[in-house]
Amino acid sequence: MRRKIVAGNWKMHGSKGLVRDLVGAISGQVGSGSLDVVIFPPAPYVSYVAKMSGGAVRLGLQNVSEHDAGAYTGEVSASMARDVGCDFVLVGHSERRQMFAETDDLVARKVEKVIASGMTAVLCVGEVESERESGEAEAVVERQVRQGLADVPTDRWGSVVVAYEPVWAIGTGKTATAEDAQAMHAAIRRVLSEMGAPANSISVLYGGSVKADNAAALFAGPDVDGGLVGGASLNAEEFLSICRCLS
Ligand code: 13P
Repeated sequence: MRRKIVAGNWKMHGSKGLVRDLVGAISGQVGSGSLDVVIFPPAPYVSYVAKMSGGAVRLGLQNVSEHDAGAYTGEVSASMARDVGCDFVLVGHSERRQMFAETDDLVARKVEKVIASGMTAVLCVGEVESERESGEAEAVVERQVRQGLADVPTDRWGSVVVAYEPVWAIGTGKTATAEDAQAMHAAIRRVLSEMGAPANSISVLYGGSVKADNAAALFAGPDVDGGLVGGASLNAEEFLSICRCLS
């Protein structure tokens, strides 16, 4: 059985007020049953989300350092994320790859740290628009999966989730068709299996303009185990509607 997950990536949005309103509104409605609801707030709000949710949602960080500790001003380590109650970390989000020059090698080192700290690494992969147009989407995603997960210990695949987020669909209102999303998820599962991973037990999430009105269709694919939601996760009603598509 694969875990069904709906995750909200707040990116650099939020405030204590938003945490109170949004987490307060959703925590009474989620947290039972088989669906994992995960919130990735900006790092300073993690403990406040934990407090306000009373354990109804699981917590994650949007990024961590590749280093364990030391003179790295501005960085946060995986063990610190664990220490404040995180169970998940996003690694290799396209915004980090594009704006902070994160390479597949760096992503692989971060995945290793996250897993070693006892959390689940959510590896984000996805092609840009020109790569899709030139027919390279699958090859790009395959490279990101193989390199990003190259150092996962054979007994730690249970600490891996993959999120397929086509870059052209992020924050644009465009989504992959349900058929294209399913096809890419099946391809990711094939690559995982070729890498020796227990591919059928690894959750693969879709991200990229997931909304209340397209979530059910996107999540219907047999290889789509939930979603990684950006903008729509900042609205309690919309986020709850998305969660209800899977619970
Ligand atoms: P949007 O849902 O705003 O397109 O963002 C998706 C995303 O990047 C989640 O990580």
